[in-house]
Amino acid sequence: MKPINRRGFIHLSSFGLTSFTLPGFINKSVLINKKPIVVSTWDAGLNANLAAWKVLSTGGTALDAVEQGVMVTENEINCCVGLGANPDRDGHVTLDASIMDHQFNCGSVAFLERIKHPISVARRVMEKTPHVMLVGSGAQQFAISEGFSLEKDELSKDAKNAYENWLKKSTYKPIYNVERQSEIPKNDAAYNAPHKLSNGEWNHDTIGMIALDAQGNLSGSCTTSGAGFKMRGRLGDSPIIGAGLYVDNEVGAVVATGQGEDVIRVAGSSAVVEFMRQGKSPKEACKLVIERIRRIKKEKAKDIQVCFIAINNKGEYGAYALHNGFNYAVHSEKGNELLESEFLD
Ligand code: ASP
Repeated sequence: MKPINRRGFIHLSSFGLTSFTLPGFINKSVLINKKPIVVSTWDAGLNANLAAWKVLSTGGTALDAVEQGVMVTENEINCCVGLGANPDRDGHVTLDASIMDHQFNCGSVAFLERIKHPISVARRVMEKTPHVMLVGSGAQQFAISEGFSLEKDELSKDAKNAYENWLKKSTYKPIYNVERQSEIPKNDAAYNAPHKLSNGEWNHDTIGMIALDAQGNLSGSCTTSGAGFKMRGRLGDSPIIGAGLYVDNEVGAVVATGQGEDVIRVAGSSAVVEFMRQGKSPKEACKLVIERIRRIKKEKAKDIQVCFIAINNKGEYGAYALHNGFNYAVHSEKGNELLESEFLD
């Protein structure tokens, strides 16, 4: 009997036989034919998912998908991702990003200025250096040496307006998206973009993306300007592996958005993965870590938002948030849709 080759498997799978074992004959990796899926944070995820899906639906890797997906958001003018985002309190846009593949390879950049695609620099850190994380001028120097161009140090029109507005009071008080959609008038732009407050201010909107490819491999990415008007030098959770992002191919992939400081203190994404390892569903695992954050923050939990999205290695996904207002985008073979996350209170 001849070993079944990949063509044979594809043929069988078209009859609905998507996995089976024949010890001794077939390399296990040949057998895996998972249904790809990509999940990303907030409504900006809808556009980002389209780029990721192009990669996944043509047999590409989850790693390429999560890089190319979030690059779309880095290119858009957005309060909280890419060079068009809100600056720190000194008026400079500083960016954080991280990426992780199915083999525990990971890379990140933080406090990176004037580089358009921090996610791609993070990937180069992962692939081309012996390190996991580069920050500040060192990260910028590395990016330039890798051929990334140094953009002008200037704010987008939206960010300039937001900054000028902020300077009037100059108080750092992140207003996270705790506004309830039911309290926003339906004709207000904020109604369908709950991270935009109805007074027109944007609060946060990090894009995090996790994907499973047809080979059964998971990867994740996260890119952000962090909290608007933060102290100069502040890093959030997004560039910290285990906090803003974590992937364990045997278990699942998780990404966080919201108040980074409170994600870091519970090693949030890693904690969600550990709950999935114990058998919890992605949504239950996210909820358990959100509950932990609420226990730690006590009454201060009402002033912050924290949200997680997760996929397990079977391609099941889920999300959970501390408060109302978080949505996330899911693209599978059934299409691309925006879902409202469940929340604690
Ligand atoms: N988690 C990000 C940070 O704290 C912010 C966000 O998700 O909006 O830097």
